[in-house]
Amino acid sequence: MNSNIDTFDYIIVGAGSAGCVLANRLTASGRHRVLLLEAGGRDRNVWIHIPLGYGKLFASKTFNWLYTSEPEPELDNRQIIQPRGKVLGGSSSINGLLYIRGQHADFDHWRQLGNAGWSFADVLPYFRRAEHQQRGADALHGVGGPLAVSDVSEPHPLCEAFIEAAQQAGFPRNDDFNGPAQEGAGYFQLTARNGRRWSTARGYLRQARGRANLAVVTDALTTKILFSGRRAVGVEYRRGGATRIACASSEVILAAGAFNSPQLLQLSGVGPAHLLQPLGIPVIADMPSVGADLQDHLQVRMQYRCTLPITMNDVINSWRHRTHAGLRYALFRKGLLSVGAGYAGGFFRTSAMAATPDVQVIFIIFSADSVGAALHPFPGFIATVCQLRPQSRGFVHIRSADPAVPPKIQPRYLSSPFDQDTTVAGLKLLRRIMDQPAMRTYIAEQRAPDPRLTSDADLLAFARATGTTVFHPTSTCRMGSDAGAVVDERLRVRGFTGLRVVDGSIMPTVVSGNTNAAIVMIAEKGADMILQDAAAQAPVALSA
Ligand SMILES: Cc1cc2nc3c(=O)[nH]c(=O)nc-3n(C[C@H](O)[C@H](O)[C@H](O)COP(=O)(O)OP(=O)(O)OC[C@H]3O[C@@H](n4cnc5c(N)ncnc54)[C@H](O)[C@@H]3O)c2cc1C
Repeated sequence: MNSNIDTFDYIIVGAGSAGCVLANRLTASGRHRVLLLEAGGRDRNVWIHIPLGYGKLFASKTFNWLYTSEPEPELDNRQIIQPRGKVLGGSSSINGLLYIRGQHADFDHWRQLGNAGWSFADVLPYFRRAEHQQRGADALHGVGGPLAVSDVSEPHPLCEAFIEAAQQAGFPRNDDFNGPAQEGAGYFQLTARNGRRWSTARGYLRQARGRANLAVVTDALTTKILFSGRRAVGVEYRRGGATRIACASSEVILAAGAFNSPQLLQLSGVGPAHLLQPLGIPVIADMPSVGADLQDHLQVRMQYRCTLPITMNDVINSWRHRTHAGLRYALFRKGLLSVGAGYAGGFFRTSAMAATPDVQVIFIIFSADSVGAALHPFPGFIATVCQLRPQSRGFVHIRSADPAVPPKIQPRYLSSPFDQDTTVAGLKLLRRIMDQPAMRTYIAEQRAPDPRLTSDADLLAFARATGTTVFHPTSTCRMGSDAGAVVDERLRVRGFTGLRVVDGSIMPTVVSGNTNAAIVMIAEKGADMILQDAAAQAPVALSA
């Protein structure tokens, strides 16, 4: 027997948002042996667990894949950073913690596209099952689930001003963006508990780690899916310089995220033949749609100098304030260290033509010249706008047969004129809010864009020159019933057995909001489908 080969019922590739959910749910009954392979390491670093640590993980070579896009033609040929978590919890260990599910209409749209079982009514029970909502349960929210969701620890005067300004501009206040309607301005809820990040590694994996039927292998880069004909039978992975093989008697489940799941399919011979053949990869299935349909949210940031020293810049840049903030966090789990990316924000319609909000605004109480850069030495804040349902489509393509070489990522932001128009309309809408009396008292200077830039052409040029991702790549292994879809509505790779994709890459269209909550839901539902299929195949015991 080869000691480098192990056999499991299920192999999950990637211990990210989706992978940790799957590992927990598939091992709960004790009936199935599961291997969870993760390219990154353990989530022991303290900054992973402190929400403000979000800013520290941006440039971390240890916890972040640090991808960049190809030069983007519609963004002045700039290369856009594409951070992704490389650690237990995946991107849920490095993300901004905002808990936003998307709009009910997003899922009804998925159903309209032919995906039976994915309407909002169908997916709501999975959102509820996942959730441990600090405010308690109701028709839309759940308690007792592994994913802790909580309110920000305290209000902030700048956020109060922003919410009031949105109301002065004619928008409603909304205290629950995951409630009956998304529209309006308010505080975000966070995937956090008692001021600590609640990644899926923390919420789901920790519960399951002690189970004898779960093997978790970190620092293990899966390099290939192994096939017998059109059946996935295992994977090959690299760990510590050695190559190992693991066999799956039931299924291989890809949960490596929107960049790496299509990359792994392509490396394994499932993808566009014209891409694979020149790289010397034998083609198992010519599927041009693997890696196609990449969607992402582009955000454009407006920067302000504040009239009062009440921003995070003032805390971080002062030794005394920093110490005080650290003590408040240590003692009470409150204050700026308990907040991730955004504090407040809103969802708005840029025109009466939109049936539901078409832009999201994130209001951030610090300022810096670019994402991840040092904070300004003066009081400042930022408000970003992002179009929620982009029509631009990009792709992820391997550039080498070597699994260690990052794939080519080309989101093609703003390649659709509709996206250009909506982004410009979003910037105008945001300016209208910031011009209201409640906000004006806090604005010493609008630093960017220059207030003299007012025409549509000026604002589009600003978006092209400064726009960047809000980190929501999806849809590269799109679910659908059409010939161009990669997985069917049970997340099985079309034309194969024993192979599913269960992560952000299956979204038919990106949800109208942040993506983590919807991916947790996808994994909850995916786990149910996997277990149902296993039960349907199990031999029926004969009664005596
Ligand atoms: C900086 C940042 C901020 C964000 N902010 C928010 C936010 O505030 N709210 C929100 O809802 N969403 C946010 N998101 C998006 C959200 O976190 C992601 O959409 C989500 O976590 C993706 O889940 P996933 O399971 O598809 O992939 P991931 O969570 O990225 O998991 C994929 C896992 O697979 C592993 N992997 C990849 N390739 C291999 C391989 N070959 N072998 C083994 N393992 C592999 C990776 O290391 C990773 O752990 C943010 C994302 C980032 C990066």
